[in-house]
Amino acid sequence: MTSRTDLLSALSGIVGERYVLTTAEDTAPYATDWKRSTTGVPACVVRPASTAEVAAIVRLCGDSGISIVPQGGNTGLAAGAIPDTTGGQVVLSLNRMQTVRSLDPIGMTVEVEAGAILQTVREKAASVDRMLPIAIAAEGSATVGGVIATNAGGLNVLRYGMTRDLTLGLEVVLADGSVSNGLRHLRKDNAGYDWKQWFIGSEGTLGIVTAAVLRLVSVPRHSVTALLSVSSLEAAISLFGHAQQEIGEALSAFELISANSLDLVSRHAHLKPPITAGDWFILLEGASSLSGLRDAAEGLLESGFENGWIIDGVVAESEAQARQLWALREHVTEAEARDGPSLKHDISVSLTHLREFLDDAEAALVDAAPGAGLNIFGHLGDGNLHYNVLFRPDHDQKAINRIVHDAVIKHGGSISAEHGLGQYRVDEWLRLAPESDLRLASTLKTALDPSGLLNPGKILPFSLLHTKAI
Ligand code: FAD
Repeated sequence: MTSRTDLLSALSGIVGERYVLTTAEDTAPYATDWKRSTTGVPACVVRPASTAEVAAIVRLCGDSGISIVPQGGNTGLAAGAIPDTTGGQVVLSLNRMQTVRSLDPIGMTVEVEAGAILQTVREKAASVDRMLPIAIAAEGSATVGGVIATNAGGLNVLRYGMTRDLTLGLEVVLADGSVSNGLRHLRKDNAGYDWKQWFIGSEGTLGIVTAAVLRLVSVPRHSVTALLSVSSLEAAISLFGHAQQEIGEALSAFELISANSLDLVSRHAHLKPPITAGDWFILLEGASSLSGLRDAAEGLLESGFENGWIIDGVVAESEAQARQLWALREHVTEAEARDGPSLKHDISVSLTHLREFLDDAEAALVDAAPGAGLNIFGHLGDGNLHYNVLFRPDHDQKAINRIVHDAVIKHGGSISAEHGLGQYRVDEWLRLAPESDLRLASTLKTALDPSGLLNPGKILPFSLLHTKAI
């Protein structure tokens, strides 16, 4: 067994003493999640500057039997980047690895190190008139490695897909300390298994992403943004069907915001919507290189009013106004966090069953958690809602989670649409996942990380893995 002193000294030998953080004060920002609901106790935080250093750390920890928790910007909403409380896990932060290695506006790719901040990479792409279409409200802190490890979704999935759809190549340090270099810039590559897919969305449990090649898209020259209040959820869904036809592939966002969400934003972020009325609002965006988009959007709104789907609406007249409308949506998560504790459910259900899901969940919650508030918003166009329950101290939190997830499964949905399982949802996934899913997950984990070195307790339960205290 390695002593703590030996471990710290060996890590210092790899990265330099100042990049091994050990005091409670220095490690605190890495030990608590963004929601401030989970705090771990790391053995230390180590901050490598290169892929070679990451590989050396993994080899050292593997030899010493000490597990590793990879961390990017620590904005994850499932506490996947937070160590346990034993003091026996090393947090490996990628935040010194931020180099943009290459930017190719013709091939439309960017090659970047895993610790690069998403917003910085988006700005780099914009500097050559290209766009990285991964858009999440946490882009100022979230890293490329983090969005890959969680297969982040966000505001533009409708048009451009999830992070998986935008990842062309990966460089990964495996659990044995070897480096797999798959930094290919290719659209087409069917030579063997597409192994990068194993790591995308694996939440740091199969390998440590050190660099990636991401796909860029052209910057849309025209855009239209509208905030609409709709007469019902069914009206919102009908409008979505119509928007897909009228705006077509230029439809880049179709976000649902409940009146409760806007109330939270108004109270905590002091932003007010320019329209009122109704329980549900839609933030719609179209973006295209071709003109004619505004006419299409106005035609859509006209038929929306005629059909009684839309009660009120505003179309942004300028980019500044569009940004104000987007700010309403982007502040919901933060406003909810300021309001108090909540139980987040990041669910997806097909639009055909969404109404039934909401009715079932709400009916069960009224009985089990009377007086609980609901903050429902999300990416309606993707069938992905954030169904967050603002509970009271006397409510049974486990029962609330079970009610929501049971209703999701009953209607054929997923209990984690885009945030991952982390540590929050491991028990629920084990309870609800098909046996074959668990068997395959366990087979993959055992093949790639047989001693359970990487992020144990995330996705798969502790019982399947081993950690050694130091
Ligand atoms: P971290 O939080 O540091 O880590 C997340 C997971 O990835 C952990 O399991 C960690 O171990 C692993 N990991 C991190 N880096 C690596 C690496 N280099 N190699 C291997 N594993 C690694 N998510 C969405 O999908 N859509 C949204 O719209 C969205 N909106 C958000 C809005 C707000 C205000 C906030 C706070 C979060 C939001 N998120 C959203 C969640 C979060 O931003 C994403 O999950 C993001 O991808 C996390 O990136 P990160 O760098 O902060 O990762």
